[in-house]
Amino acid sequence: MPETTCHKAYKFNLKPTPEQEQVLETTLWRCRTLYNTALEQRSTAYRRCGVSLTCSQQQAELPDLKAAFPEYPEIHSQLLQDVLARLDKTYQAFFRRVKAGQTPGFPRYQGRNRYHSFTYKQFGNGARLDNGFLVLSKIGRIAVRWSRPLPGTPKTVTISREADGWYVSLSCEGVPIQPLPLTGRETGIDVGLKVFLVTAHGLVVANPRHFRKSERRIATADKAVARCQKGSTGRRKVVNRQAKAYQKVRRQRGDFHHKVALQLVRENDTMYLEDLQVANMVRNTHLAKSISDAGWAQFRSILAYKAACAGKRVVAIPAHYTSQQCSGCGALVPKSLSVRTHVCPSCGLVMDRDENAAVNILRAGQARQAVT
Ligand SMILES: [Zn+2]
Repeated sequence: MPETTCHKAYKFNLKPTPEQEQVLETTLWRCRTLYNTALEQRSTAYRRCGVSLTCSQQQAELPDLKAAFPEYPEIHSQLLQDVLARLDKTYQAFFRRVKAGQTPGFPRYQGRNRYHSFTYKQFGNGARLDNGFLVLSKIGRIAVRWSRPLPGTPKTVTISREADGWYVSLSCEGVPIQPLPLTGRETGIDVGLKVFLVTAHGLVVANPRHFRKSERRIATADKAVARCQKGSTGRRKVVNRQAKAYQKVRRQRGDFHHKVALQLVRENDTMYLEDLQVANMVRNTHLAKSISDAGWAQFRSILAYKAACAGKRVVAIPAHYTSQQCSGCGALVPKSLSVRTHVCPSCGLVMDRDENAAVNILRAGQARQAVT
């Protein structure tokens, strides 16, 4: 039976009073302090005794922590547990990369401008809705600017601080699927080197020009912050301008991803993608710029949930010689990253490199579907 509902997150602007804003700030501050303390505890334990602390070990210590530091009982326990879970996730990712033979950066301490949000993992436990207000335990009743109705049942609640204010993100379950008409079409999608993506049907989506422009704006803002003395009166303003520049880029990128994903989901019933390790690709400096620019990982998750909510499918297939193989005859045609065009000496096929890869992805996906 086909699914009739899906998961989806909805974000709304919060309108806290100045007093509530103060409490939100304090909460965020405490969560960040706990994160840094727990990180230090983990790395000390490892350095001194060679032991790895687990998330549950650390969570078991929370009651002691609350007894020792009077500021922690003011914070809802769900939030504190989530902080430790976040740290654990960072550690897991770190060890996974070490295992894979990479040299990742060690999990790092979070400064004031790097820690933006806290999460209630269970709606109803510490965070609930009441008459259009968001009620946070130990924080208060906060007004929400409902820019759209909220479908489904909220499961988790994340509060975040952005350059222009506070937001709540409600991740909902049981959101009714709004199926898009089936087109009977399937396609393969490959991440482009020079462009954003290419499909097996020859659709080429370029990177928007405004990405480069925003990048320059960010560089200027970064420099201004670096020039400003810590603690000086002008610094706050400059840091704020920098945060706004970053926020603008995030929004532009998000809008672009949503638009492209919608087009693909409208045109296709099934979309095949390569199961790429974006981290791996970003390590290659040639590719780094265009890939992190493109925010490929973010795009993929947007495409996946858009497809799910429209009754369509995104299928990841293992990466396997997709750019080296000829989509015409299957011969291996090795080529370096700088070679833009696929030219097959066996069958004479000439095709854009990325499109050739996209056709291979489509074929590999269809072959796997046929087997299962
Ligand atoms: Zn060929």
